[in-house]
Amino acid sequence: MTVLDLQIDPTVRGWSPELPTVYQELADRAGQLAASLAGEDHLWDAEGRFPWPEVAVLGSHGVLGLTHPEEAGGAGLPRLAAVVVLEALAQHSFTLAEATQIAANGPAYVLSTIAAPRLRDRWVPRVLAGETLISIAITEVDAGSSLAEIATNATSDPVGWSVSGTKCFVTGGSLAGAHLVMARMGESPGVRGLGYVLVDAGAPGCDVRQVHRKIGGNATPEAVIDFAVAGIDDEAIVIHPDSGGFALAMQSYNAMRIGIAGMCCGVARRALDLAEAHLAQRVQGGRPLARRQGLQWRIAELELELESARLLTYRAASRVDEHGFPDGLDTARAKLAASRVAVAAADAAIQMLGWRGIVSAEDHPAERILREVRGWTIAGGTSESLLNMLGRAALSGHGSGR
Ligand SMILES: Cc1cc2nc3c(=O)[nH]c(=O)nc-3n(C[C@H](O)[C@H](O)[C@H](O)COP(=O)(O)OP(=O)(O)OC[C@H]3O[C@@H](n4cnc5c(N)ncnc54)[C@H](O)[C@@H]3O)c2cc1C
Repeated sequence: MTVLDLQIDPTVRGWSPELPTVYQELADRAGQLAASLAGEDHLWDAEGRFPWPEVAVLGSHGVLGLTHPEEAGGAGLPRLAAVVVLEALAQHSFTLAEATQIAANGPAYVLSTIAAPRLRDRWVPRVLAGETLISIAITEVDAGSSLAEIATNATSDPVGWSVSGTKCFVTGGSLAGAHLVMARMGESPGVRGLGYVLVDAGAPGCDVRQVHRKIGGNATPEAVIDFAVAGIDDEAIVIHPDSGGFALAMQSYNAMRIGIAGMCCGVARRALDLAEAHLAQRVQGGRPLARRQGLQWRIAELELELESARLLTYRAASRVDEHGFPDGLDTARAKLAASRVAVAAADAAIQMLGWRGIVSAEDHPAERILREVRGWTIAGGTSESLLNMLGRAALSGHGSGR
């Protein structure tokens, strides 16, 4: 039997939105581990304390290296595995999720897949053990969303490469053992002249000038870092404009961006769980709040947004290139949808909890959830820059999402 003149085998299944059973098991175990480690989670934020011992436990269970290739000491699992693990971790501890995100999807993963083996072997095993982390240093005060205006320079001279410039709002910048710095190399103007250089945080001339305290997520604070570093080896040039250049740098960034989407799905789930449990047990005017239609509709809208964001996130994480980097447009859609629903669900949970939603974190977690997730519509590409990207693609005929 043919349909539209096509002979199609009815047993061929295309899109499967179900996670493999083993990934559900992986997510459950990650959630249980995070729950067992996160007893002091609110203190990590309040005291600005990065939980190195707990992060080392994640490392000992293979969580930090789950996506890294086996030759780099990782488990070699696909990007989707990292996404479901991050989603599970973020339901218990934003800090543990972020530490895993930085190791599994961040600069260390770029070193594992693209860098010279000697550079990889120097840094990646320590990151996967939870002994250090590598930050990503892109943003400058004058060059935020507009990367074409990045002014930090990497120049080659007889004693090696020199890096000069100042980066700001570098997550974990004061904790990191090394920074993956986006810098201008060579003569090409705009983004075409940009690449990545790895700078040892202990090198003379690499100085943390300021550490910001921010709205939430203070266990991994952001730093302003001055670079006036000389004598850097050739192999520290991880991406040069002449070898993949800006396009490869941005492609690698999609691994981080999809991790943010996964974390945001987990945060949204946690906020909705808190809200739904409260609505079920809180009786006002003789009935549980869960029986009020206005509240039911708000919950239904948010559940719909979350499920849509998860599907976009899983799809984006499942469609990767040979390095394990997801597609840019897929990732933009996922991160936009997931960060929006995370902020919306965290805010709605506070509203539905009444006064309980705004008491401080040691009495109720709701206010901290909103504080921790608020930055994620800005970090990793602002919502507006993702909309610009998606709008441009749609208007040039490449935005269908198929
Ligand atoms: C929690 C968090 C963690 C971060 N971690 C890191 C890190 O580890 N490393 C790092 O390098 N950076 C990091 N950043 C910085 C982040 O990448 C920048 O904040 C982001 O690129 C935006 O730059 P900006 O803040 O200077 O905003 P600006 O570029 O000044 O933009 C301000 C506002 O204007 C909007 N806007 C700008 N241009 C346009 C346009 N063309 N069209 C429409 N709207 C526009 C933006 O979307 C934004 O809402 C982090 C930020 C946050 C919030």
